[in-house]
Amino acid sequence: MIIDLHTHSTASDGDFAPHALVDLAHLNGVSVLALTDHDTLAGNAEAASRAKELGMRFIPGIELSTNWGTTCIHIVGLNVNRENKPLKDKCEEIASLRRARAAKIAHRLDALGIPDTLEDVKAKFPEVKNISRAHFARVLQSRGVVKSEQEAFDRFLGSAAPAYVPTPWPTLAESLTLIKGAGGVAILAHPMRYKLKSKLSLDALLEEFLDVGGLGIEVSSGSQSPAYSSVCEALARNYHLYASCGSDFHRVGSERPYPGSQPALPKDLPSILEFIA
Ligand code: AMP
Ligand code: MN
Ligand code: MN
Ligand code: MN
Repeated sequence: MIIDLHTHSTASDGDFAPHALVDLAHLNGVSVLALTDHDTLAGNAEAASRAKELGMRFIPGIELSTNWGTTCIHIVGLNVNRENKPLKDKCEEIASLRRARAAKIAHRLDALGIPDTLEDVKAKFPEVKNISRAHFARVLQSRGVVKSEQEAFDRFLGSAAPAYVPTPWPTLAESLTLIKGAGGVAILAHPMRYKLKSKLSLDALLEEFLDVGGLGIEVSSGSQSPAYSSVCEALARNYHLYASCGSDFHRVGSERPYPGSQPALPKDLPSILEFIA
């Protein structure tokens, strides 16, 4: 059975409309799919209805941008009630944080000699509500300022780069309260992507995640090197966390795998699906 519990649509920074994402996952043989757009539940209704037509199991989800100290981490919430008011209200609040941040990013890029990027983001993605750094990266790429999305992050948008704007995302405790309040389970997404400086800080993150009621960890993730899966597998075992597995698919032509194409979980590792079911 192919499962993919981490994907994106045009409701955040993906290229596929929710129904089209479900079609693509279905074509790839996925039988259990979660949509986990950044800080929004907006795509879940459309995806759920398409999955129902195709006879696929669908799990409504979200990926919450979260501050852990000065590090931005991502917490995936699975099986959340897509009508939950506190979570929906927080999503509205974050959308407005994202708009304010986008104006500041554009201002910084302007000061670096790259004008009018926010205008281009809005022209290129007219429907977008949750403006992402990924949208700026694509504008920089289409203007020929950079050759790849990665180069845009390395030179301009990443946390050590000059157009980076720190953002008051919810804290780890707040994100967990929101996800649990919406009836969902919280998963630490792509743990090896945070460039935490030592094993100690990764352990500290996991301990705090457990303290606030975190239940799962991504062991197989399309957005970190497959070589890290064994590290995450050991973390899942040591901390008794359920394992999750997701492509983190956003678009065709990026380095990330297609929906369902990330390596499967080790068979003997308790999977978050066992908990949700
Ligand atoms: P944001 O949520 O607006 O801060 O934007 C982060 C998004 O940009 C991620 O979810 C990825 O989809 C995308 N991205 C692509 N390359 C990178 C990178 N090197 N670092 C962080 N995000 C990246
Ligand atoms: Mn993204
Ligand atoms: Mn993420
Ligand atoms: Mn993601």
